[in-house]
Amino acid sequence: MTAPVNTEIRELGAEFVRREVAPHLQEWEDACSIPRELHLAAGKQGLLGVAFPEEVGGGGGTLMDSVDLQEAMFEAGASSGLMAGLFTSGIALPHIAASGNADLIDRFVRPTIAGDTIGSLAVTEPGGGSDVAGIRTTAVREGDHYVVNGAKTFITSGVRADFVTTAVRTGPASSGGGGHAGISLLVVEAGTPGFTVDRSLRKMGWHCSDTAELSYVDVRVPVANLVGEENTGFYQIAEQFVVERIALAVHAYGIAARSLELTAAYCRERETFGKPLISNQVVRHKLVEMRRQVEVSRTYSREVARRHVDGENVIAEACLAKQTACDAATYVCDQAVQLHGGTGYMHGTEVERHYRDARILPIGGGATEVLTDLAARLMGYA
Ligand SMILES: Cc1cc2nc3c(=O)[nH]c(=O)nc-3n(C[C@H](O)[C@H](O)[C@H](O)COP(=O)(O)OP(=O)(O)OC[C@H]3O[C@@H](n4cnc5c(N)ncnc54)[C@H](O)[C@@H]3O)c2cc1C
Repeated sequence: MTAPVNTEIRELGAEFVRREVAPHLQEWEDACSIPRELHLAAGKQGLLGVAFPEEVGGGGGTLMDSVDLQEAMFEAGASSGLMAGLFTSGIALPHIAASGNADLIDRFVRPTIAGDTIGSLAVTEPGGGSDVAGIRTTAVREGDHYVVNGAKTFITSGVRADFVTTAVRTGPASSGGGGHAGISLLVVEAGTPGFTVDRSLRKMGWHCSDTAELSYVDVRVPVANLVGEENTGFYQIAEQFVVERIALAVHAYGIAARSLELTAAYCRERETFGKPLISNQVVRHKLVEMRRQVEVSRTYSREVARRHVDGENVIAEACLAKQTACDAATYVCDQAVQLHGGTGYMHGTEVERHYRDARILPIGGGATEVLTDLAARLMGYA
C-alpha cells in the first residue's frame, strides 16, 4: 500500500520556503549561518515538531508527514545545508522525547520545537565517527554531577546550539557487550564552565549550516541532564538511526529532484548551435536517466519510511534507501552542473550549491561502506 501524501503539510512547507527561505538563502550561505529568527518562524508554523508526539509539544504526525514536509521544502528550493541546520532538532531531541523525562522535555524539547532554542547532537569525535561504540569522551560521576572530559567534531549547529545532546562514556569499553554498553547521553548546556566551541569549521558544502568542534574540560553536568538510563546511550542512538537515514535519503533525492527540474528548464531555454539544448537526443536521454534515478530513490525511500511507520524492522532497508538516494544525488547533481555548462560552475547558481551539498550525504549519518556492511550482516551475507 502506498502511503497517502499529506498535501496540507506539503503546501505549508513549500510556502515557508518561498516566503522565508528562498529570498535569503544565498546571503545565509555566504554568512555561513542561519538566523535564529528562522527557527522561530518555523516553530510558529509547527514545522519543527511535525513528527513529535503532541505530549512533548509536537504535531503528533508520523515519519511520513515529515518526509512529505521535507520533500516539499526541497521542491520549493531549500538546500540540504539549510534543512540540516534548521532541522537539527530532528537528531538532537528524539532521545530526550522518548525518555519520557518531563523535566528534560520541558527544558529542551518544547522550547526547541517552538523554535526558541537550538539543540545539537554530538556523537562524532576527532578520533573517528563511524565506530560509535569507540567514543572516548568520559563522564565520571561525582555526587549530583558528571564531570565530562573530551572533544567532539563535525557537530551540526554546534556553534549556535543552546544545548548539545552529547554521547559520553560512563562505563568501561569492555563491560558486558563491548564498547556499546558503557555509553550514555547527557545534555550539556551552552555556557557551562569548561564547555566551549573550539572552532567553527569551514566546509565544501552545507555552507549555511554551521559545524562545530567542541571541547569539554572538567565540565560539571547535573545528573538530572542524563537522558534515559545510564549506559543505554548506544541503543538510544541506534534506535534513531533509521529515521536519520531516511531523512538523509530525502535530502539526497530532494536535491536531485530540484536539480533535475532546474536543468530541464535550462535545457529548454538555452540554445547551442542554433537550437535548444533539449532538442539533442543525448541531452533528453540524460534528463530521462536523471528522472529515473530520482523516481526510483523516492519511491523506495517512501516505501521504507511507510514500513517503518507500520512497525516493521527496516534497519537494513534504510541503509539501502540512503545509498540508492545518495547515488542518485551524486549522478543527478553532477549532470545538472554539466548541462548548465560554465553557468553551473558559478557561485550562486543553485545547481552548483546542490552539487557541493550532495557530497556530504554518503558520508554523514553513516558512511555508505559502513551501512552496506551493516546491511550485509542483517541480511545474512556475513
Ligand atoms: C558536515 C558534517 C556534519 C556532521 N554533523 C554531525 C553531527 O551533527 N553530529 C555528529 O555526531 N556527527 C556529525 N557528523 C559526523 C559524521 O557522522 C561522520 O563524519 C561520519 O560518521 C564518518 O565518520 P568520520 O568522518 O570520522 O570518518 P571515519 O570513521 O574515519 O571513516 C572514514 C571513511 O572510511 C570509510 N570507512 C569507515 N569505516 C569503514 C569500514 N568499516 N569498512 C569500510 N570502509 C570504512 C568510509 O568511506 C568513511 O567515510 C557530521 C559530518 C559532517 C562532514
